[in-house]
Amino acid sequence: MAGLRPLPLHLTTSGTPASSPGPAVLLGATDIRALAASIDLTPTKTLGQNFVIDGGTVQRIVRTARLRPDDVVLEIGPGLGSLTLALLPNVRRVIAVEIDARLAELLPSTIAFRLPGALERLTVIHRDAMNLDLRGDEYPTAIVANLPYNVAVPVLLTMLARLPSVRRVLIMVQLEVAARLAAKPGEDAYGVPSVKAAWYGSARMAGTIGRLVFWPAPRVDSGLVALDRHDPPQTTATRDEVFAVIDAAFGQRRKTLRAALAGWAGSPALAEIALREAGIDPSARGETLDVAQFARIAEQRPHQE
Ligand code: SAM
Repeated sequence: MAGLRPLPLHLTTSGTPASSPGPAVLLGATDIRALAASIDLTPTKTLGQNFVIDGGTVQRIVRTARLRPDDVVLEIGPGLGSLTLALLPNVRRVIAVEIDARLAELLPSTIAFRLPGALERLTVIHRDAMNLDLRGDEYPTAIVANLPYNVAVPVLLTMLARLPSVRRVLIMVQLEVAARLAAKPGEDAYGVPSVKAAWYGSARMAGTIGRLVFWPAPRVDSGLVALDRHDPPQTTATRDEVFAVIDAAFGQRRKTLRAALAGWAGSPALAEIALREAGIDPSARGETLDVAQFARIAEQRPHQE
């Protein structure tokens, strides 16, 4: 970001710069409200703007992320900097991507005031994360973020697809979404996000977070999801081909795969043949299959004239 804004005077009364995060560096409720007021920001639901007001929570996120000193962390939606301040002392660089211009512009001055030595290790990009293009920047090795709730799954899956350099992820999302991302075949929460996330890595629930650590407080609790990247299943099908089967299988929940994949295969009979070739029982339901089994089905798609 070019040029730092002068620090709003009323913010200089709380916190003193330090080299490692402590209560004086991390943002509390009063700091968050003052920072928001300094840029006339009324948090908006459309952008999922719920800011963390509790230092213990951001420290817990950083601990759970198991970061290494040489990590380059991509933080999506740094907001007023709550998590950024906890990340910076622990890693080589933070690349913070923020869609809201006022927040992107304010962030460097917040870091300059609270952690001045860390400013040169922060890159702020004002952009929609869905349109992120990191050419010319350092490639992130980890994603740590308190994601905007309404776009959490597409943002996560897009980042994993576009940034193979990312090996580890720790995100805070709505508790229900966390459960879906981490669910295993046969579990109630298992669905499209679970299988697609499993293409990229193994996801697990890494904790729950109450709503009172945010301003404004959301209506739901949050969950932490950790994902360690692994190679995708060995298959001759492309990722898009596998994801098309997943979408079709869950598009008609509680139907047998023979019925749910009829459109994808061309007819129920063709779906049955493809499933049998893949070694899958045509009367099974998508909710019971793992990502490798979906890949085997994708390999059997009948050629369509
Ligand atoms: N990380 C901060 C914290 O923990 O307090 C803020 C988290 S808040 C839940 C989500 C942030 O993501 C907001 O600052 C919002 O403006 C930003 N945001 C929303 N949609 C975005 C997008 N598509 N790309 C980048 N940032 C986005």
